[in-house]
Amino acid sequence: MNKTILEFDVVICGSGPSGATAAFLLSKHGLKVALIDKKQFPRDKLCGGLLTEKSYKLIKSMFGNDFFESNLIEFSSNKFEIFYGKLKILSAFSKKLFIYVDRKKFDFAILKMALDSGVNFFSKTKIIDIDIKNMSVFTNNNIFKGRYIIASDGVNSVIRGCLIKKGILDDKEYKDNLTLAMEIYNYEFATDRASIYFGFTKFGYGWVFPNKKRTLVGIGALISKNKGLIKKQFKNFLNSIGLDAPKIFNAHLIPTGWISNRFGFDNILLVGDAAGFVDPITGEGIYYAVKTGQMSAEAILMSEKNKLFAEVNYNSLIQNIVSNLKRRKMYRNLIFGTRFRLVIKFFLLIILFLFKDKLLKFIHE
Ligand SMILES: Cc1cc2nc3c(=O)[nH]c(=O)nc-3n(C[C@H](O)[C@H](O)[C@H](O)COP(=O)(O)OP(=O)(O)OC[C@H]3O[C@@H](n4cnc5c(N)ncnc54)[C@H](O)[C@@H]3O)c2cc1C
Repeated sequence: MNKTILEFDVVICGSGPSGATAAFLLSKHGLKVALIDKKQFPRDKLCGGLLTEKSYKLIKSMFGNDFFESNLIEFSSNKFEIFYGKLKILSAFSKKLFIYVDRKKFDFAILKMALDSGVNFFSKTKIIDIDIKNMSVFTNNNIFKGRYIIASDGVNSVIRGCLIKKGILDDKEYKDNLTLAMEIYNYEFATDRASIYFGFTKFGYGWVFPNKKRTLVGIGALISKNKGLIKKQFKNFLNSIGLDAPKIFNAHLIPTGWISNRFGFDNILLVGDAAGFVDPITGEGIYYAVKTGQMSAEAILMSEKNKLFAEVNYNSLIQNIVSNLKRRKMYRNLIFGTRFRLVIKFFLLIILFLFKDKLLKFIHE
């Protein structure tokens, strides 16, 4: 069967926070935008749903002060605690609030902003391949041609895979920096604070996060450092806090610390998880998804004027994010690295008490 070729200024592949943000901004500036996703929305997304101060501020600045008013905040609290195994080592208040959202509603709300700005949305449309010479994206339905393409198709990005296969992107560090995250929803006990648990896994942590009607309990850890053990570690963690392990585990990957050599090719740009833009220590990705979605849109708008490849403009815009993530990856290796673990464990308590405000600043800003 012959597929129809649809032509746009920008083809955006993946409608999570990164892709929908880029779509919203580009359409608002008058470009003809196609936004594609394999799922029908609203769709579920495995996530802790925690927004730090920087995410909250960024999202409000992007979508307006009213954005969160339509029932999007499920819970907010400034309380948090840190455990090592079963031992509570810190219980404190953050000056800034932690905001908790439900990703199904939150992602749909951003998509609605994009739709209202005139984006053409194609759901149940799965990206299969890309022809970089002809700037065409092949899907199970149509072929989408764009002057620009944004890859926002998440951690298992098909487009990133194609660029790696062609030798354009380097994937040397990708596998070593993949976190496997598992999460369950508990409807029987409620909490009013974020609890973080170290000691159950290497290069990662467990969490218990509040939400409106449920409590989210999860674990995330580098696969390369915990070969085949993460499911067992999650069971141990759940048992230690008095919960039974589920029969079926919901799991998803997070690219924590894959800093590529490039973040695109000519007029093709990678954003959010597809580009590996996630905090290597905390696994926070929503901020980076929205921020790089915004920057990809800015880069394209700049290219419309200066006629440079969008990749060139994008590179100059994302420099701070790239150096920040590189720095955080170095800290991650220092904190969790085996050579320093004993020393770090020894000083962890003292550091947490002395520098808890600095730690919170590091998380929120
Ligand atoms: C268990 C877990 C907990 C997390 N907790 C937090 C948290 O509390 N706070 C936080 O800030 N971050 C958290 N993250 C990270 C955060 O979820 C991601 O970084 C963020 O969703 C990235 O946004 P994105 O738009 O780049 O990608 P995604 O949100 O993954 O969106 C990608 C979209 O692309 C679509 N897609 C994928 N492949 C194709 C294809 N072939 N064809 C068409 N469409 C496709 C998908 O359906 C999806 O809609 C967590 C992640 C996990 C796994």
